[in-house]
Amino acid sequence: MKQSIKKNQTQQSLADSIKAGLYKLWSFPGGIKLPGNKSQSNHQPITSAKTARQLVIPLNQHIGQAAEPVVQVGDKVLKGQVLGHAHGIISAPVHASGSGIVTAIEERPIPHPSGLSALCVVIDTDDYEQCVEYTPLIRENKVSEAQAGETRENSADEQSITALSNEQINSQIADAGIVGLGGALFPAAAKLHTAEKMHTDTLIINAAECEPYITCDDVLMRYRPEEVILGILLIKKVVGAKKCLIGIEDNKPEAYEALLSAISGYTHAHKTAQTEPQIEIIPVPARYPAGGEKQLIQVLTGKEVPSRGLPMDIGIICHNVATAAAVYQAVYRGEPLISRIVTITGGAVKVPQNMEVPIGTPIRDVLTQAGLNEEKIEKVIMGGPMMGFALPSIDIPVTKATNCLLISEKDELTTPPPAMPCIRCARCSDSCPMSLLPQQMYLYAKSRELDKLQEYNLFDCIECGCCSYACPSNIPLVQYYRYAKNEINNKTQERNKADLARKRHEFREERLEKAKLAKAEAARLRKEKLAKKKALDAEKAKQEEAKEASSDDKSDSTASEKSAANTTAANSADLIQEAIARAKIKKAQQQSQRKNTENLTEDQQNQIDEANERRSKNSQIE
Ligand code: SF4
Ligand code: SF4
Repeated sequence: MKQSIKKNQTQQSLADSIKAGLYKLWSFPGGIKLPGNKSQSNHQPITSAKTARQLVIPLNQHIGQAAEPVVQVGDKVLKGQVLGHAHGIISAPVHASGSGIVTAIEERPIPHPSGLSALCVVIDTDDYEQCVEYTPLIRENKVSEAQAGETRENSADEQSITALSNEQINSQIADAGIVGLGGALFPAAAKLHTAEKMHTDTLIINAAECEPYITCDDVLMRYRPEEVILGILLIKKVVGAKKCLIGIEDNKPEAYEALLSAISGYTHAHKTAQTEPQIEIIPVPARYPAGGEKQLIQVLTGKEVPSRGLPMDIGIICHNVATAAAVYQAVYRGEPLISRIVTITGGAVKVPQNMEVPIGTPIRDVLTQAGLNEEKIEKVIMGGPMMGFALPSIDIPVTKATNCLLISEKDELTTPPPAMPCIRCARCSDSCPMSLLPQQMYLYAKSRELDKLQEYNLFDCIECGCCSYACPSNIPLVQYYRYAKNEINNKTQERNKADLARKRHEFREERLEKAKLAKAEAARLRKEKLAKKKALDAEKAKQEEAKEASSDDKSDSTASEKSAANTTAANSADLIQEAIARAKIKKAQQQSQRKNTENLTEDQQNQIDEANERRSKNSQIE
């Protein structure tokens, strides 16, 4: 049974504790024993780098979508000001690590194994170091950097952490742009949010720092243990973990003691509180790669993370000590992640040390401050000798991922002789901490049988390099796996792109077909409507016609009545005229009968005619 570290053990040395069998540890397969080369850089407190004249701050310093720039060229920016907002759920903001003027937003080379460039905000700094006003969630009681091994009274505000809501803490972490500082670079807030949802019960803090040369976590624990412990308590609260296990390699006794002292101080300061911090510090044997996430989980809990799965699948979340310290700074100081501790070491560095460096500082500036023997430089490696990669130049910036700058001199790092054929000795598989079959994967990688490689769980390979290190034929096995992974990822990306294009095409076709059908239906409806309207109009016209016809009948009858009346009147008038004419004729006959008109002379006859004419006229006048 694994036992907790008791408070009264704070003064007990790590070696004694291990000897006393206080810890029950499990083991992981494979692994190798490596020379630590840590003592060069961990002998002095953390130093601070000067702010450079120019800072180059990449907008993509994390897994996921790059931040979206919110400043423009010519803007004056303050230290701590947001330069780019998080873009999407898996993203993180980036902040200015010094005050000055934005002079460019452009692609610049960044330290990355791919050697690619990324969009960067370039700031020409001023001498004022003006800072935005930070808004911490908890008032910080300044904890001074004590010497390792000192017993400290942790003066953190009692009950402060429990008074905060998970949303408050996580939102502060998100706004501070905190990412996994152990190398994963996954946005911390997104990881904590998922862990909270998945009811994670164990928080594991990775303090192993197993890679040779690197000591940045070691000095952080030695000189700022309270920040680490308070950060851990904040993370533990957010994910709702019941317990926390800190896994630390047994080659860091000072850091171990400092953490124990910080826990003790916290417990002492909270002696009235009911809650214990529930943090156990567990030393693990220094065997590379004990600091690998899956290996540390296996050593501390005996549980195995499933192939291609996550620790959360087995109720565990793992964070690095430096991430915990960054969480402390965000919550207790309101400070975003604008600097990190970098180990500067190697034979070509005059004063190997750990330096707190503002993000965006050119590596050349950092090395100059540490004292560089330029003529001695053979290789500049970011990270350690096992998992790091060589930098093409030192005129590139320090990023959130820069944990170590190893500047080796000639013969410091062995350059392997040319590779020989595989002799099937199986040393590679014996050393593999993931229980893979490296020689088999090597053969498939060489023959580019990518499907077979996946069958052999290539993606479980953590690229620790143990197999390459153990191989007597000097085959650079891990390089084959990296190359194969890239090939597969590129092919998958291409396939995904093609799938996406096909889906978009199908969607477009479907949309066009739908639009066509909708158009035809609309035309049909229009036609139907028109026909209905026509029918309606015809019906209306018919009705009106009928109406008009009936009104015509009525007016016809009135007119006939009228015409009948008129005819009657006309007939009466005609009858009168006829009667008058008949009377006149009769009168004329009577007159001609009364007079003797026979034997008249011509004159007489003319007179008579004139008289008759006059009479006739008179009668007409009458
Ligand atoms: S260690 Fe090297 S030589 Fe031996 S089996 Fe593996 S690849 Fe082959
Ligand atoms: S690099 Fe991959 S295959 Fe090689 S030992 Fe490490 S995990 Fe195994």
